[in-house]
Amino acid sequence: MGKIVAICNQKGGVGKTTTAVNLAACLGALEKKVLLVDMDPQGNASQGLGLIEFEDEDIYDALTWAENDELTLEKLNGVIKNTEIEYLKLLPSSTDLAGIEIELVNAEAREQRLKTVLSLIQDDYDYILIDTPPSLGLITVNVLTAAQSIVIPIQCEYYALQGLAELLNTIRLVQRSLNEDLIIDGALLTMYDSRLSLSKQVVEEVQNCFSERVFKTIIPRNVKLGEAPSFGKPILLYDILCVGSKKYMELAEEFVEINYV
Ligand code: ATP
Ligand code: MG
Repeated sequence: MGKIVAICNQKGGVGKTTTAVNLAACLGALEKKVLLVDMDPQGNASQGLGLIEFEDEDIYDALTWAENDELTLEKLNGVIKNTEIEYLKLLPSSTDLAGIEIELVNAEAREQRLKTVLSLIQDDYDYILIDTPPSLGLITVNVLTAAQSIVIPIQCEYYALQGLAELLNTIRLVQRSLNEDLIIDGALLTMYDSRLSLSKQVVEEVQNCFSERVFKTIIPRNVKLGEAPSFGKPILLYDILCVGSKKYMELAEEFVEINYV
């Protein structure tokens, strides 16, 4: 049964999508069967894998089918896209997903909708990675309810730890009432700049806060990582030799060690 992993931090622009896309792609390159689920109405993970302005059904439809008891394996597999990496598939999202927060408000077991969807296909993958929006609303609660573990990207910048208490509190609430087995795989430091003493300071602070649960791999600020999404490619296919590729590959190897399947 595949491991479901949420890439989560309600702070905006900290590298969630960059990590979701590139960790997924690197795991695919290691010949792990990976599904990347885009749970952000911004659709950045879908765009980052080259899916722009598509008309087909997406994760919003799958969640709606689950709500109306119309979900079948065949319909769900029809929503999943192939990518340029053989082992990596994508369950895309679009702006439609923004509506789900309101539509589910009064629904029964509204936090379980994504879990229901993913349980149909969990056996088909080694890893299911989920990109989340920068909020702690019902979408994120659905993700945390479906997931077995969480990766928390933290940008090496001023106020890096701001909002973290809220995130950890939400995780605790979900553990208590919806998903007691949920664990934190680790905090992941992103956009590290070795020239800045601030970056080093943040690394120390995060290590103090998360103790052993910090990934050894630190993702540096790398121009190529910023450019790749505009070409609709994960970093490995955009520039395999750049430091961004090297570091996300290192992260994938470290990730496989702690999440052995
Ligand atoms: P949001 O909260 O809006 O979903 P996010 O947490 O998903 O944002 P990203 O979209 O991954 O964050 O990153 C924010 C911006 O920083 C993007 O333009 C991305 O290309 C860029 N970026 C992310 N990581 C790096 C990096 N290591 N080096 C350089 N640029 C990066
Ligand atoms: Mg994002």
